[in-house]
Amino acid sequence: MTPSLTNPLLSLTQLDRRAPARTQEPFPVTGALRDRFGRVMNDLRLSITDKCNFRCTYCLSPGATFLPTSDRLTTQELVRLGHLFARLGVQRLRLTGGEPTLHPELTTILSELSPLFDDVSMTTNGSLLTDKNARAWKAAGLHRITISIDSVDPVRFRTITRSKVDSAVVIDGVRAAIGAGLHPVKVNAVLLAGVNEADAPALAALARELEIEVRFIEFMPLDQDGGWSDRAVVQSKSTLQRISDVFTLVLEGRDRPDRTAVRYRFLDGAGGSVSTIAPVSEPFCGECSRIRVTTDGYVRPCLLARDEWPLLPLLRSNASDRDLELAIREAVWNKDQGGALTMGPIGGRTMSAIGG
Ligand code: SAM
Ligand code: SF4
Repeated sequence: MTPSLTNPLLSLTQLDRRAPARTQEPFPVTGALRDRFGRVMNDLRLSITDKCNFRCTYCLSPGATFLPTSDRLTTQELVRLGHLFARLGVQRLRLTGGEPTLHPELTTILSELSPLFDDVSMTTNGSLLTDKNARAWKAAGLHRITISIDSVDPVRFRTITRSKVDSAVVIDGVRAAIGAGLHPVKVNAVLLAGVNEADAPALAALARELEIEVRFIEFMPLDQDGGWSDRAVVQSKSTLQRISDVFTLVLEGRDRPDRTAVRYRFLDGAGGSVSTIAPVSEPFCGECSRIRVTTDGYVRPCLLARDEWPLLPLLRSNASDRDLELAIREAVWNKDQGGALTMGPIGGRTMSAIGG
């Protein structure tokens, strides 16, 4: 499957990539979307735009540039792919990016795709999470939402996101999401050593106050600035220690074996919970059920592996749904076993380009 050289809709960025590594083994052409290690994919992360209005230090460079519109999946292509993945047994959909709320047709995408999946969620930086938007997204079929807040402190929030948005605006957005009936509402926080690690208890206090789950994600080597090093990572065990200095935690565990987050509740019976996601200190590839599609139409079977499988040439050359299905099946079959992070920085695309 090589990109078409004659398709005028494809720019050079689509054409100058090396082909992904293929195994010689034939891949299954029917049944569940399965990889070589017996894992079944039922969780799709669909990146609907690479654009973002923030420049989080652990994600984008200050001078980040974005794809030309012609290289991004159109709404029609996003919807077609959603239908295909649903037909292949994928039950859970997460819209992400970049910043998905910047997509001008977000509600259309939601209303077209939400009937196809049991669980429809979105990850957002919360900058556009007003009462009105939260209600509109809920009405369009969004079930739940995850909002990124790395610090409740306004100065640190602006420093990390390199934006002019106030943390209070995003915290109000969390309240708007709760008020609109999106459930559960979760918060993601990335802690960076020497920057916001001391904010962990304040974020845990936010979890208690709003009765939501706050998830602490270890910094992964997917930042555009290339600033990742193991010294910059705040390991989950250290985050738990900081929170435990203030609140006593009780381990609840993972909701399901393929879930990345390990959850803790508060011993004093307060609402809310905190979770840790530890891809660096405790890689959790064994039960992975996730598959990603990038804004420019590549299947990315593993977040932490470089291999990507192009769908855009097929989407833009009258390929049948069966052709697309086989391309997806082949990509999934070739998914890496995992554990790439233990080998250090992986370079390549940023989290914003892949779809976090
Ligand atoms: N813009 C939206 C947001 O920030 O929530 C959605 C896309 S963002 C790429 C998805 C998630 O990835 C966010 O929670 C963000 O904190 C996380 N993320 C981005 N870069 C990361 C990195 N290098 N390591 C760990 N998490 C990262
Ligand atoms: Fe934008 Fe999300 Fe990346 Fe921050 S983490 S720069 S909000 S895509």
